[in-house]
Amino acid sequence: MNIAAVEKTNLETGLRHALAANQFVLHYQPQLDIERNKTVGVEALVRWAHPELGLLQPAQFIPLAEDTGLIVPIGEWVIKTACSQVRAWQDAGLSSLRLAVNLSAAHFRDPGFVAIVKRILLETQLDPSFLQLEVTENLLIQDTERTMTTLKALKDIGIQLALDDFGTGYSCLGYLKHLPVNTLKIDRSFVNNVTTHPEDAALAKAIIAMAQSLRLRVSVEGVETEGQLAFFADQHCEEIQGYHFSRPLPEEECAKFLQQSRPP
Ligand code: C2E
Ligand code: CA
Ligand code: CA
Ligand code: CA
Repeated sequence: MNIAAVEKTNLETGLRHALAANQFVLHYQPQLDIERNKTVGVEALVRWAHPELGLLQPAQFIPLAEDTGLIVPIGEWVIKTACSQVRAWQDAGLSSLRLAVNLSAAHFRDPGFVAIVKRILLETQLDPSFLQLEVTENLLIQDTERTMTTLKALKDIGIQLALDDFGTGYSCLGYLKHLPVNTLKIDRSFVNNVTTHPEDAALAKAIIAMAQSLRLRVSVEGVETEGQLAFFADQHCEEIQGYHFSRPLPEEECAKFLQQSRPP
């Protein structure tokens, strides 16, 4: 085996034990309602506190978790931990705080997935309307029929659905009108250059207009500057998420941020 293969095997062995060893951590990134200038939600983003390698970012282990199927139990842990945390923040006074959680394709292949989500909502006492599950276009084109059934079942429970990384997938736009999603999250790649490149601004405007005509909420990811925020506010987008407002924060720091950005 070459070095890369050995490292991958080591990482995989570690990943298998990480859940039992309690090595996963969630960071939460606040989401701003532009018009109300108020935090309306947080997105849970997983990290792995690796005993030797330090804090690993999702890009360093989520692909491996997906290849090995470990993403299913990890995802269950993420949903459960995040639901319980957000319910605690709601109880502490942030009564309408929403939680966003990312899903992988493997969750849609698991026939028990909807039941698991239901059980977690019951156990944590989080109202389903405060949970937003994020799926990507690329996930939707796999096993379309089952995916659609699962999405509808999740929607029927009262959960909100968001289409993540919008604009980066390969699927055609025609499927959008059939999808039970509430929100489009415009990918960061459309945001970087909106204030400097007219072509990027034109693309962003076209995507927003389409989403608005389908009556979808528009959330913009990766907003880093005041200028970018102004651009998307001008286009009447509902929400932004990005370093300009806040980076993803560890639990305690997020709690402080939420208390401070709370309306009087
Ligand atoms: P995502 O769902 O698109 O999450 C947004 C990513 O953009 C996060 O990276 C966040 O830290 C980063 N980000 C937010 N605002 C800005 C900004 O203003 N500028 C820049 N440059 N970046 C920004 P992160 O935390 O590294 O997560 C990467 C991806 O890993 C996520 O992309 C998501 O696809 C995946 N992921 C994270 N947590 C989970 C999880 O619990 N389950 C699954 N299945 N996937 C996850
Ligand atoms: Ca996401
Ligand atoms: Ca995204
Ligand atoms: Ca992404």
